[in-house]
Amino acid sequence: MRHIAVIGSGPAGYYTAEACAQRFGAAVRIDIVDRLPVPFGLIRFGVAPDHQAIKAVTRRYEAIAEGKGVRFLGNVAVGRDVTVDELRGLYDAVVIATGAPADRPLDIPGDDLPGVIGSAAFVGWYNGHPDFTELAPPLDGDTAVIVGNGNVALDVARILAKSPAEFVGSDIVAHAFEALGNSAIRRIVVLGRRGPHQIHMTPKELAELAELERAAVRVDPADLPPVGDDDALDASARKAVGQLREFAAAGGAGERPVGIDFRFFARPVAITGEGRVERVEIQRMQLDAAGEPQPTGAIESIDCGLVISCIGYRSPPIPGVPYDEPAGRFANDAGRIAPGLYCVGWARRGPTGTIGTNRPDGYLIADAIAADQPVAAGKPGGAALDALLTDRGVATVSFDDWHRIEAAEAARARDGAPREKFVDVDEMLGARGA
Ligand code: NAP
Repeated sequence: MRHIAVIGSGPAGYYTAEACAQRFGAAVRIDIVDRLPVPFGLIRFGVAPDHQAIKAVTRRYEAIAEGKGVRFLGNVAVGRDVTVDELRGLYDAVVIATGAPADRPLDIPGDDLPGVIGSAAFVGWYNGHPDFTELAPPLDGDTAVIVGNGNVALDVARILAKSPAEFVGSDIVAHAFEALGNSAIRRIVVLGRRGPHQIHMTPKELAELAELERAAVRVDPADLPPVGDDDALDASARKAVGQLREFAAAGGAGERPVGIDFRFFARPVAITGEGRVERVEIQRMQLDAAGEPQPTGAIESIDCGLVISCIGYRSPPIPGVPYDEPAGRFANDAGRIAPGLYCVGWARRGPTGTIGTNRPDGYLIADAIAADQPVAAGKPGGAALDALLTDRGVATVSFDDWHRIEAAEAARARDGAPREKFVDVDEMLGARGA
């Protein structure tokens, strides 16, 4: 029997389990461990609460989790309850699928002021991640500044702009629903250090802004390149830029209580304030021949009470595991870190691509395991891990336990919501029942 441990139960973890189950059939046992008592990682804690259709991919992961030879072991933190080296001693292959849950730092003066928040923290807060329950983002100012021109920036802008009625059907957690309902923010400035042709936003996500009930999107026509230049873009980017052109042409869509202002060629260079963020200093940029942003010398400032950086993520290092510091992910060669140790998904290639991009990643790793270890090494696998965890007093959470937590979350949902998530590890453990 071949034993495989997957660390992390997000998309990369489940696609790896699926690929390994298909590749090795009845001759494999796969344990998916997660430091939290609840599964699905990015789907539960990253995907926006008003994107329930995307979250529905968990049905596929449930089928994998309930497949023969696959187990979920929640509430097991690698580094706290068991080390990577111990796992390598127990399993033929250990696959790190921990994603990229840490914020890339802005690295500008004032980025440590209260009120400057990374998107991992802010998204974790409105999605009920236990690490960010206490975040209390300051929503008392009139203006919020979002740094970055990717889809996360769009998620954050949309969530800040929505009225309470627009959260019907979402699973935004109660503390965020209530705080956002009382928010004073009426102006959301989205900063891009490059131009409209360099955005990482996708057309569907941009178009959602046009549907917002009380927000007008403003794009300065002067920031847009000549229309003919769009021909050089791929189809998706052309559509996205076309949406920006529509926003510019609409001229702010009349009187609306909330404004979402796209500011291109604008790089934040400092954040200032007495004891909390009060303004962001912006350097006006222009692109050089290589498309890199270069300062023009013009500086301006935006008064604001909240700055959310949405500039990408890093995988936190694990002691003893080779790490690529500049890239913010594990050092690997096509997923191979060391004999019997692999990484997959964002932990392997960084935070890019869609959820589905992780599926071929899982197959890549299953193929690498098969090529590296044509015959299983006879390691003891899950039974030995269970014994070790019992010895250490670790209360693991099974997939059946998760179903009980899930049922309790559904039972306490507010009207129209699919669930009210538990946001505290002890609450989660309490809800798993006997
Ligand atoms: P992203 O797509 O890589 O965008 C990061 C943005 O931050 C870029 O505009 C980048 O500008 C900017 N940036 C980076 N460093 C900066 C700095 N120091 N100062 C100013 N700006 C800086 O990352 P993301 O938005 O975090 O998204 C991560 C992944 O999740 C992406 O693949 C995304 O598509 C996916 N996602 C998808 C959805 C969805 O489909 N609904 C939702 C959320 C996330 P430059 O281009 O100049 O580097």
